Amino acid sequence: MAPETMSMRCCIAGGGPAGIMLGYLLARAGVQVLVLEKHADFLRDFRGDTIHPSTLEIMYELGLLEEFLRLPHQKVYELNAQVGQTQVTIADFRYLPTRCGFIAMMPQWDFLNFLAEHAARFPNFALRMETEVTDLVEESGRVIGVHATTPRGAIEVRADLIVGTDGRNSIVREKAGLKVKDFGAPMDVLWFRLSRGPDDPIATMGRFDAGRVFIMINRGEYWQCGYVIPKGRFEEMRRQEFEAFCEEIRRLAPFARDRTKELRAWNDVKLLTVRVDRLLEWFRPGLLCIGDAAHAMSPVGGVGINLAIQDAVAAGNVLFKPLRQGQVTIDHLRGIQRRRELPTRVTQWLQVTVQRRIIAPVLGDRRPVSPPLPVRLLAAVPFVRRIPARVVGLGIRPEHVSPEIANSASR
Ligand SMILES: Cc1cc2nc3c(=O)[nH]c(=O)nc-3n(C[C@H](O)[C@H](O)[C@H](O)COP(=O)(O)OP(=O)(O)OC[C@H]3O[C@@H](n4cnc5c(N)ncnc54)[C@H](O)[C@@H]3O)c2cc1C
Repeated sequence: MAPETMSMRCCIAGGGPAGIMLGYLLARAGVQVLVLEKHADFLRDFRGDTIHPSTLEIMYELGLLEEFLRLPHQKVYELNAQVGQTQVTIADFRYLPTRCGFIAMMPQWDFLNFLAEHAARFPNFALRMETEVTDLVEESGRVIGVHATTPRGAIEVRADLIVGTDGRNSIVREKAGLKVKDFGAPMDVLWFRLSRGPDDPIATMGRFDAGRVFIMINRGEYWQCGYVIPKGRFEEMRRQEFEAFCEEIRRLAPFARDRTKELRAWNDVKLLTVRVDRLLEWFRPGLLCIGDAAHAMSPVGGVGINLAIQDAVAAGNVLFKPLRQGQVTIDHLRGIQRRRELPTRVTQWLQVTVQRRIIAPVLGDRRPVSPPLPVRLLAAVPFVRRIPARVVGLGIRPEHVSPEIANSASR
Protein backbone atom coordinates (compact mmCIF):
# COMPACT_ATOMS: atom_id res chain seq x y z
CA MET A 1 0.00 0.00 0.00
CA ALA A 2 1.37 3.46 -0.88
CA PRO A 3 2.19 5.51 2.21
CA GLU A 4 -0.08 8.37 3.21
CA THR A 5 1.70 11.56 2.09
CA MET A 6 1.38 15.09 3.37
CA SER A 7 3.07 18.43 2.76
CA MET A 8 4.08 21.00 5.35
CA ARG A 9 6.17 24.11 5.58
CA CYS A 10 8.20 22.57 8.41
CA CYS A 11 8.39 19.02 9.76
CA ILE A 12 10.05 18.48 13.13
CA ALA A 13 11.30 14.96 13.92
CA GLY A 14 11.16 14.39 17.71
CA GLY A 15 8.84 15.81 20.36
CA GLY A 16 11.31 16.55 23.17
CA PRO A 17 11.99 20.01 24.61
CA ALA A 18 13.69 21.28 21.42
CA GLY A 19 11.03 19.92 19.04
CA ILE A 20 7.95 20.95 21.00
CA MET A 21 9.31 24.43 21.76
CA LEU A 22 10.28 25.03 18.12
CA GLY A 23 6.88 23.71 16.98
CA TYR A 24 5.15 26.05 19.41
CA LEU A 25 7.16 29.10 18.32
CA LEU A 26 6.72 28.49 14.60
CA ALA A 27 3.01 27.79 14.98
CA ARG A 28 2.63 30.97 17.02
CA ALA A 29 4.37 32.88 14.23
CA GLY A 30 1.88 31.51 11.71
CA VAL A 31 4.00 28.74 10.13
CA GLN A 32 2.34 25.45 9.23
CA VAL A 33 4.28 22.91 11.28
CA LEU A 34 4.06 19.19 12.07
CA VAL A 35 5.91 17.51 14.96
CA LEU A 36 6.44 13.74 14.81
CA GLU A 37 7.06 11.89 18.09
CA LYS A 38 7.75 8.17 18.25
CA HIS A 39 6.34 7.56 21.73
CA ALA A 40 2.64 7.48 22.64
CA ASP A 41 3.14 9.99 25.47
CA PHE A 42 5.83 12.17 27.07
CA LEU A 43 6.25 9.99 30.16
CA ARG A 44 9.95 9.47 30.78
CA ASP A 45 11.49 9.23 34.22
CA PHE A 46 14.69 11.07 35.20
CA ARG A 47 15.13 13.13 32.04
CA GLY A 48 15.91 16.79 32.05
CA ASP A 49 13.57 17.92 34.82
CA THR A 50 15.56 21.06 35.56
CA ILE A 51 13.84 24.16 34.18
CA HIS A 52 16.52 26.83 34.55
CA PRO A 53 16.06 30.62 34.88
CA SER A 54 16.90 31.01 31.15
CA THR A 55 13.94 28.80 30.19
CA LEU A 56 11.67 30.50 32.73
CA GLU A 57 12.61 33.84 31.14
CA ILE A 58 11.53 32.48 27.75
CA MET A 59 8.22 31.38 29.29
CA TYR A 60 7.80 34.93 30.60
CA GLU A 61 8.52 36.45 27.20
CA LEU A 62 5.85 34.17 25.76
CA GLY A 63 3.36 35.27 28.42
CA LEU A 64 3.14 31.71 29.77
CA LEU A 65 5.16 31.98 32.98
CA GLU A 66 2.39 32.58 35.51
CA GLU A 67 0.27 29.68 34.26
CA PHE A 68 3.35 27.47 33.96
CA LEU A 69 4.40 28.04 37.56
CA ARG A 70 0.96 26.93 38.71
CA LEU A 71 2.02 23.39 37.76
CA PRO A 72 3.52 21.43 40.67
CA HIS A 73 7.25 22.08 40.96
CA GLN A 74 10.00 22.59 43.53
CA LYS A 75 12.14 25.73 43.55
CA VAL A 76 15.89 25.25 43.92
CA TYR A 77 17.59 28.52 44.90
CA GLU A 78 21.08 27.18 45.39
CA LEU A 79 23.24 24.14 44.65
CA ASN A 80 25.22 22.73 47.55
CA ALA A 81 28.00 20.17 47.71
CA GLN A 82 30.20 18.46 50.21
CA VAL A 83 33.72 18.07 48.84
CA GLY A 84 35.74 15.99 51.26
CA GLN A 85 34.79 17.50 54.61
CA THR A 86 34.08 20.97 53.18
CA GLN A 87 30.44 22.10 52.77
CA VAL A 88 30.10 24.58 49.94
CA THR A 89 27.37 26.45 48.07
CA ILE A 90 28.39 26.12 44.44
CA ALA A 91 25.77 28.38 42.88
CA ASP A 92 23.28 30.87 44.27
CA PHE A 93 20.58 31.76 41.72
CA ARG A 94 18.87 34.43 43.83
CA TYR A 95 21.09 37.21 42.46
CA LEU A 96 20.58 36.55 38.77
CA PRO A 97 19.30 39.53 36.77
CA THR A 98 16.17 37.66 35.74
CA ARG A 99 12.56 37.23 36.82
CA CYS A 100 13.06 33.82 38.40
CA GLY A 101 16.13 33.38 40.58
CA PHE A 102 15.65 29.64 40.93
CA ILE A 103 15.57 26.34 39.05
CA ALA A 104 12.05 24.90 38.79
CA MET A 105 12.19 21.12 39.21
CA MET A 106 9.33 19.72 37.19
CA PRO A 107 8.80 16.37 35.47
CA GLN A 108 9.68 16.81 31.82
CA TRP A 109 6.34 15.36 30.75
CA ASP A 110 4.47 18.17 32.57
CA PHE A 111 6.61 20.74 30.76
CA LEU A 112 6.06 19.08 27.37
CA ASN A 113 2.33 18.53 27.91
CA PHE A 114 1.97 22.19 28.88
CA LEU A 115 3.76 23.45 25.76
CA ALA A 116 2.02 20.95 23.46
CA GLU A 117 -1.41 21.95 24.80
CA HIS A 118 -0.64 25.62 24.16
CA ALA A 119 0.74 24.83 20.70
CA ALA A 120 -2.43 22.88 19.86
CA ARG A 121 -4.43 26.12 20.18
CA PHE A 122 -2.90 27.26 16.89
CA PRO A 123 -4.73 25.71 13.91
CA ASN A 124 -1.48 25.48 11.93
CA PHE A 125 0.20 23.22 14.57
CA ALA A 126 -0.03 19.44 14.45
CA LEU A 127 1.58 16.80 16.64
CA ARG A 128 1.50 13.12 15.66
CA MET A 129 2.40 10.74 18.44
CA GLU A 130 3.47 7.10 17.84
CA THR A 131 5.08 8.27 14.61
CA GLU A 132 8.70 7.22 14.23
CA VAL A 133 10.90 8.81 11.61
CA THR A 134 12.87 6.07 9.88
CA ASP A 135 14.49 7.73 6.89
CA LEU A 136 14.90 10.92 4.91
CA VAL A 137 13.54 11.67 1.45
CA GLU A 138 16.16 13.33 -0.73
CA GLU A 139 16.14 14.89 -4.18
CA SER A 140 19.23 16.23 -5.95
CA GLY A 141 21.23 16.39 -2.71
CA ARG A 142 18.48 18.24 -0.83
CA VAL A 143 16.41 16.77 2.01
CA ILE A 144 12.76 17.22 1.07
CA GLY A 145 10.95 14.98 3.52
CA VAL A 146 10.89 12.04 5.92
CA HIS A 147 9.53 8.52 5.99
CA ALA A 148 7.86 7.48 9.21
CA THR A 149 5.99 4.51 10.62
CA THR A 150 2.78 4.69 12.62
CA PRO A 151 0.49 2.01 14.07
CA ARG A 152 -1.82 2.66 11.10
CA GLY A 153 0.92 2.29 8.47
CA ALA A 154 3.71 4.23 6.84
CA ILE A 155 3.58 7.95 6.10
CA GLU A 156 5.72 10.30 4.05
CA VAL A 157 5.94 13.96 4.99
CA ARG A 158 7.33 16.51 2.56
CA ALA A 159 8.41 19.89 3.86
CA ASP A 160 10.47 22.96 2.97
CA LEU A 161 12.53 22.24 6.06
CA ILE A 162 13.07 19.12 8.19
CA VAL A 163 14.34 19.76 11.72
CA GLY A 164 15.99 16.87 13.56
CA THR A 165 15.17 17.15 17.27
CA ASP A 166 15.23 13.42 17.89
CA GLY A 167 17.80 13.48 20.66
CA ARG A 168 21.21 11.97 21.31
CA ASN A 169 20.55 8.82 19.25
CA SER A 170 19.22 10.88 16.34
CA ILE A 171 18.22 8.85 13.31
CA VAL A 172 17.92 12.11 11.36
CA ARG A 173 21.56 13.05 11.82
CA GLU A 174 22.65 9.50 11.05
CA LYS A 175 20.63 9.26 7.83
CA ALA A 176 21.81 12.74 6.80
CA GLY A 177 25.41 11.57 7.18
CA LEU A 178 26.30 14.50 9.45
CA LYS A 179 29.68 14.00 11.13
CA VAL A 180 29.89 13.83 14.92
CA LYS A 181 32.82 14.74 17.17
CA ASP A 182 32.81 12.66 20.36
CA PHE A 183 34.43 14.19 23.46
CA GLY A 184 34.15 11.08 25.65
CA ALA A 185 33.02 10.93 29.26
CA PRO A 186 34.62 9.13 32.21
CA MET A 187 31.33 8.31 33.91
CA ASP A 188 27.75 7.08 33.77
CA VAL A 189 24.98 7.90 36.23
CA LEU A 190 22.56 5.60 38.05
CA TRP A 191 19.29 7.42 38.80
CA PHE A 192 16.75 6.21 41.37
CA ARG A 193 14.32 7.67 43.87
CA LEU A 194 13.93 7.43 47.63
CA SER A 195 10.98 8.92 49.49
CA ARG A 196 11.66 11.99 51.66
CA GLY A 197 11.08 11.95 55.39
CA PRO A 198 9.75 14.87 57.48
CA ASP A 199 13.13 15.33 59.23
CA ASP A 200 15.30 15.12 56.08
CA PRO A 201 17.42 18.08 55.01
CA ILE A 202 15.78 20.30 52.40
CA ALA A 203 18.82 21.30 50.33
CA THR A 204 19.68 19.72 47.00
CA MET A 205 23.20 18.40 47.48
CA GLY A 206 26.13 16.60 45.96
CA ARG A 207 28.82 14.62 47.75
CA PHE A 208 32.31 14.18 46.36
CA ASP A 209 34.63 12.05 48.46
CA ALA A 210 36.77 8.91 48.66
CA GLY A 211 35.84 7.36 45.30
CA ARG A 212 32.20 8.46 45.47
CA VAL A 213 30.09 11.09 43.71
CA PHE A 214 26.49 11.11 44.90
CA ILE A 215 23.75 13.67 44.21
CA MET A 216 20.41 14.09 45.97
CA ILE A 217 17.83 16.45 44.46
CA ASN A 218 14.86 17.48 46.60
CA ARG A 219 11.73 16.67 44.54
CA GLY A 220 9.20 17.38 47.29
CA GLU A 221 7.89 13.96 48.25
CA TYR A 222 10.99 12.13 47.11
CA TRP A 223 14.74 12.44 46.55
CA GLN A 224 15.98 12.09 42.98
CA CYS A 225 19.32 10.36 43.59
CA GLY A 226 22.22 10.16 41.15
CA TYR A 227 25.04 7.74 41.89
CA VAL A 228 27.96 8.39 39.55
CA ILE A 229 29.99 5.37 38.42
CA PRO A 230 33.09 4.98 36.22
CA LYS A 231 32.07 4.59 32.57
CA GLY A 232 30.85 1.11 31.63
CA ARG A 233 30.92 -0.23 35.22
CA PHE A 234 27.15 -0.90 35.42
CA GLU A 235 27.22 -4.38 33.86
CA GLU A 236 29.83 -5.49 36.41
CA MET A 237 27.75 -3.98 39.24
CA ARG A 238 24.63 -5.80 38.04
CA ARG A 239 26.40 -9.10 38.49
CA GLN A 240 27.00 -8.29 42.15
CA GLU A 241 24.59 -8.33 45.08
CA PHE A 242 22.03 -5.53 44.91
CA GLU A 243 22.17 -5.37 48.71
CA ALA A 244 25.80 -4.17 48.55
CA PHE A 245 24.65 -1.20 46.47
CA CYS A 246 21.88 -0.42 49.01
CA GLU A 247 24.43 -0.56 51.83
CA GLU A 248 26.57 1.93 49.93
CA ILE A 249 23.59 4.32 49.65
CA ARG A 250 22.87 3.95 53.38
CA ARG A 251 26.46 4.98 54.06
CA LEU A 252 26.22 8.02 51.76
CA ALA A 253 22.80 9.19 52.99
CA PRO A 254 22.47 7.95 56.58
CA PHE A 255 19.30 10.00 57.18
CA ALA A 256 17.50 7.97 54.49
CA ARG A 257 18.81 4.57 55.54
CA ASP A 258 15.37 3.19 56.46
CA ARG A 259 14.13 3.99 52.94
CA THR A 260 16.63 1.99 50.90
CA LYS A 261 14.21 -0.92 51.31
CA GLU A 262 12.14 0.88 48.64
CA LEU A 263 14.85 -0.26 46.21
CA ARG A 264 14.13 -3.92 45.49
CA ALA A 265 16.32 -4.78 42.49
CA TRP A 266 18.52 -3.32 39.76
CA ASN A 267 15.35 -2.61 37.75
CA ASP A 268 14.61 0.23 40.20
CA VAL A 269 17.81 1.94 39.03
CA LYS A 270 17.98 3.71 35.65
CA LEU A 271 21.29 3.99 33.81
CA LEU A 272 22.17 7.25 32.06
CA THR A 273 25.02 6.53 29.67
CA VAL A 274 26.80 9.87 29.69
CA ARG A 275 27.84 11.22 26.32
CA VAL A 276 29.27 14.52 25.16
CA ASP A 277 29.37 15.04 21.42
CA ARG A 278 28.71 17.68 18.77
CA LEU A 279 27.99 17.75 15.06
CA LEU A 280 30.63 19.44 12.92
CA GLU A 281 27.86 20.80 10.70
CA TRP A 282 24.31 21.03 12.04
CA PHE A 283 22.65 21.34 8.63
CA ARG A 284 22.34 20.26 5.03
CA PRO A 285 20.17 21.79 2.33
CA GLY A 286 16.60 21.29 3.60
CA LEU A 287 17.67 19.96 7.01
CA LEU A 288 18.72 21.32 10.41
CA CYS A 289 19.56 19.54 13.68
CA ILE A 290 19.24 21.20 17.09
CA GLY A 291 19.17 20.14 20.75
CA ASP A 292 20.72 16.82 21.72
CA ALA A 293 20.57 15.75 18.06
CA ALA A 294 23.22 18.41 17.37
CA HIS A 295 25.08 18.15 20.68
CA ALA A 296 24.61 15.56 23.44
CA MET A 297 25.34 17.22 26.78
CA SER A 298 26.84 15.81 29.97
CA PRO A 299 24.48 15.91 32.98
CA VAL A 300 26.99 18.24 34.72
CA GLY A 301 25.01 21.40 35.56
CA GLY A 302 21.71 19.89 34.34
CA VAL A 303 21.76 22.16 31.30
CA GLY A 304 20.69 19.74 28.49
CA ILE A 305 17.02 20.66 28.36
CA ASN A 306 17.78 24.37 28.66
CA LEU A 307 20.30 24.35 25.83
CA ALA A 308 17.75 22.51 23.69
CA ILE A 309 15.21 25.26 24.45
CA GLN A 310 17.75 27.98 23.64
CA ASP A 311 18.47 26.30 20.28
CA ALA A 312 14.74 26.19 19.56
CA VAL A 313 14.33 29.89 20.31
CA ALA A 314 17.33 30.83 18.14
CA ALA A 315 16.03 28.62 15.31
CA GLY A 316 12.48 29.99 15.63
CA ASN A 317 13.73 33.59 15.52
CA VAL A 318 15.74 33.02 12.32
CA LEU A 319 13.30 30.72 10.53
CA PHE A 320 9.77 32.00 11.05
CA LYS A 321 9.85 34.61 8.27
CA PRO A 322 11.68 32.57 5.60
CA LEU A 323 9.40 29.61 6.40
CA ARG A 324 6.28 31.75 6.04
CA GLN A 325 7.58 32.87 2.65
CA GLY A 326 8.85 29.42 1.63
CA GLN A 327 12.39 30.78 1.24
CA VAL A 328 14.67 29.01 3.69
CA THR A 329 18.26 29.12 2.44
CA ILE A 330 21.44 27.36 3.54
CA ASP A 331 22.61 30.71 4.95
CA HIS A 332 19.68 30.76 7.39
CA LEU A 333 20.69 27.30 8.64
CA ARG A 334 24.36 28.22 8.82
CA GLY A 335 23.40 31.34 10.78
CA ILE A 336 21.60 29.21 13.40
CA GLN A 337 24.64 26.98 13.88
CA ARG A 338 26.88 30.05 14.13
CA ARG A 339 24.68 31.59 16.77
CA ARG A 340 24.35 28.44 18.90
CA GLU A 341 27.76 26.88 18.43
CA LEU A 342 29.66 29.21 20.75
CA PRO A 343 27.35 28.70 23.78
CA THR A 344 27.41 24.94 23.11
CA ARG A 345 31.20 24.79 22.79
CA VAL A 346 31.82 26.79 25.95
CA THR A 347 29.27 24.78 27.97
CA GLN A 348 30.65 21.45 26.75
CA TRP A 349 34.22 22.61 27.47
CA LEU A 350 33.20 23.47 31.05
CA GLN A 351 31.41 20.13 31.45
CA VAL A 352 34.36 18.16 30.12
CA THR A 353 36.70 20.11 32.41
CA VAL A 354 34.58 19.30 35.49
CA GLN A 355 34.39 15.66 34.39
CA ARG A 356 38.18 15.40 33.93
CA ARG A 357 39.42 17.60 36.76
CA ILE A 358 36.91 16.83 39.51
CA ILE A 359 34.70 13.82 38.85
CA ALA A 360 37.22 11.40 37.30
CA PRO A 361 39.91 12.00 40.00
CA VAL A 362 37.35 11.55 42.80
CA LEU A 363 35.98 8.33 41.24
CA GLY A 364 39.47 6.97 40.73
CA ASP A 365 40.82 7.47 44.26
CA ARG A 366 39.39 6.00 47.46
CA ARG A 367 41.37 8.39 49.67
CA PRO A 368 39.61 11.38 51.29
CA VAL A 369 39.39 14.34 48.94
CA SER A 370 40.91 17.69 49.80
CA PRO A 371 38.91 20.46 48.11
CA PRO A 372 40.60 22.03 45.04
CA LEU A 373 41.21 25.80 44.94
CA PRO A 374 37.97 26.77 43.09
CA VAL A 375 35.93 24.92 45.76
CA ARG A 376 37.83 26.63 48.58
CA LEU A 377 37.18 29.97 46.87
CA LEU A 378 33.45 29.25 46.58
CA ALA A 379 33.36 28.32 50.26
CA ALA A 380 35.24 31.43 51.39
CA VAL A 381 33.86 34.16 49.10
CA PRO A 382 30.05 34.08 48.69
CA PHE A 383 30.20 36.57 45.78
CA VAL A 384 32.04 34.00 43.64
CA ARG A 385 28.92 31.77 43.74
CA ARG A 386 27.26 34.17 41.34
CA ILE A 387 29.57 33.04 38.52
CA PRO A 388 28.52 29.36 38.37
CA ALA A 389 24.94 30.51 39.00
CA ARG A 390 25.10 32.66 35.88
CA VAL A 391 26.73 29.99 33.71
CA VAL A 392 24.34 27.24 34.84
CA GLY A 393 21.20 29.35 35.29
CA LEU A 394 21.32 31.70 32.32
CA GLY A 395 23.95 30.09 30.11
CA ILE A 396 26.29 31.72 27.64
CA ARG A 397 24.55 34.35 25.49
CA PRO A 398 20.93 33.68 26.51
CA GLU A 399 18.36 33.81 23.70
CA HIS A 400 15.23 35.96 23.70
CA VAL A 401 12.02 35.36 21.79
CA SER A 402 11.75 37.72 18.82
CA PRO A 403 9.14 40.41 19.59
CA GLU A 404 7.38 39.52 16.35
CA ILE A 405 6.81 35.95 17.58
CA ALA A 406 5.93 37.11 21.09
CA ASN A 407 3.35 39.58 19.77
CA SER A 408 1.90 37.29 17.15
CA ALA A 409 -0.24 35.22 19.56
CA SER A 410 -2.99 37.79 19.48
CA ARG A 411 -3.34 37.73 15.70
C1 LIG B 1 18.40 9.69 32.07
C2 LIG B 1 18.63 11.13 31.66
C3 LIG B 1 18.68 12.13 32.64
C4 LIG B 1 18.89 13.45 32.29
N1 LIG B 1 18.90 14.42 33.25
C5 LIG B 1 18.97 15.72 32.89
C6 LIG B 1 18.81 16.78 33.85
O1 LIG B 1 18.65 16.54 35.03
N2 LIG B 1 18.84 18.06 33.41
C7 LIG B 1 18.98 18.37 32.08
O2 LIG B 1 18.95 19.56 31.71
N3 LIG B 1 19.14 17.40 31.16
C8 LIG B 1 19.11 16.10 31.53
N4 LIG B 1 19.20 15.13 30.59
C9 LIG B 1 19.38 15.53 29.20
C10 LIG B 1 18.09 16.12 28.66
O3 LIG B 1 17.01 15.23 28.85
C11 LIG B 1 18.30 16.42 27.19
O4 LIG B 1 19.47 17.21 27.02
C12 LIG B 1 17.14 17.18 26.61
O5 LIG B 1 15.95 16.49 26.86
C13 LIG B 1 17.38 17.36 25.13
O6 LIG B 1 16.20 17.74 24.50
P1 LIG B 1 15.96 17.37 22.99
O7 LIG B 1 14.59 17.85 22.68
O8 LIG B 1 17.08 17.83 22.16
O9 LIG B 1 16.04 15.77 22.92
P2 LIG B 1 15.22 14.67 23.72
O10 LIG B 1 14.73 15.18 25.00
O11 LIG B 1 16.06 13.46 23.72
O12 LIG B 1 13.95 14.46 22.82
C14 LIG B 1 14.01 13.72 21.63
C15 LIG B 1 12.60 13.28 21.31
O13 LIG B 1 12.60 12.68 20.03
C16 LIG B 1 11.89 11.46 20.09
N5 LIG B 1 12.45 10.61 19.03
C17 LIG B 1 13.63 9.95 19.04
N6 LIG B 1 13.83 9.30 17.88
C18 LIG B 1 12.72 9.58 17.13
C19 LIG B 1 12.33 9.20 15.81
N7 LIG B 1 13.09 8.42 15.05
N8 LIG B 1 11.14 9.65 15.35
C20 LIG B 1 10.34 10.44 16.11
N9 LIG B 1 10.66 10.82 17.37
C21 LIG B 1 11.86 10.39 17.86
C22 LIG B 1 12.12 10.93 21.49
O14 LIG B 1 11.11 10.04 21.87
C23 LIG B 1 12.09 12.23 22.28
O15 LIG B 1 10.80 12.57 22.68
C24 LIG B 1 19.04 13.80 30.92
C25 LIG B 1 18.99 12.80 29.93
C26 LIG B 1 18.78 11.49 30.29
C27 LIG B 1 18.73 10.44 29.20
